[in-house]
Amino acid sequence: MNIKDIIIANNFHYKKSLGQNFITDRNLLDAIVKDGGVGKDDVAVEIGVGAGGLTAALSATAKKVYGFEVDRSLEGILAQTLKGCENTEIIFRDVLKMSDEEFKAVVKEPFHVVANLPYYITMPLIMRFLESGLCAKSITVMVQKEVAERITARHNTKEYSAVTVAVKFYADAEIKRAVSKNMFFPVPKVDSALLKLTVVPNKYGVADKEKFLKLTSAAFSMRRKTLANNLEAAFGTAKTITEKALERLGYPPNARGETLPIEDFIRLYDLIF
Ligand code: SAM
Repeated sequence: MNIKDIIIANNFHYKKSLGQNFITDRNLLDAIVKDGGVGKDDVAVEIGVGAGGLTAALSATAKKVYGFEVDRSLEGILAQTLKGCENTEIIFRDVLKMSDEEFKAVVKEPFHVVANLPYYITMPLIMRFLESGLCAKSITVMVQKEVAERITARHNTKEYSAVTVAVKFYADAEIKRAVSKNMFFPVPKVDSALLKLTVVPNKYGVADKEKFLKLTSAAFSMRRKTLANNLEAAFGTAKTITEKALERLGYPPNARGETLPIEDFIRLYDLIF
């Protein structure tokens, strides 16, 4: 029986509240695994295994797969769809509610995250893996098209935001493929995109990352205000200090946050703090 038939035979009721939109197309599932860069020596972590379509594709390629799922009612279906997947362990827990220690007790080696995420946990989950001490080498996730565009945006665009900079601070981001909403069941309202984040440890050599990210978050806090105004409000930094630093970097004193690529935020941070 294929996955679709197993889901039907088990009379499964999809839970919208858990973001349950499954993918069963084998070509797409294999392409996701390939895009995730998962090879035979790799450990894969999947968040939200659902009926196990992606899990089975990962299992066929990876050395070991850890799949996390909150919905215990999928247990019977997974026993059938993952039959024979000896290298796969399913953990019925919410990753966001696990401490780093609890997670590391399960996943002991560096790993690649590959997941078709419920959209409401997209950003908390991405930031959790980027900010924590968990050893994610890459994070390849299906997200809403708009979110993928925001995360990979260039400066001087309306999509460019504090989130773009925060993600770029930790990882290189690229959109691997656009995915039509018709590839999911039930069909969701919006189209998706497969986003790949390749983690680069200590990418910019910033010692106080919280302070740097507070600066970039402040830079976008009121988009119509100048960067100097926003930094004065957040840090009490005199406007003249920011304006002089901006001029040294070749920007007008009234520059706004969205005009600076992350490399110039780093230079600005070094000049101000
Ligand atoms: N991976 C499957 C696929 O591609 O067909 C299912 C994807 S579906 C979009 C998301 C899955 O995540 C659902 O099965 C849902 O129950 C599960 N889920 C929702 N919140 C979760 C959480 N906090 N932790 C783990 N799994 C979660």
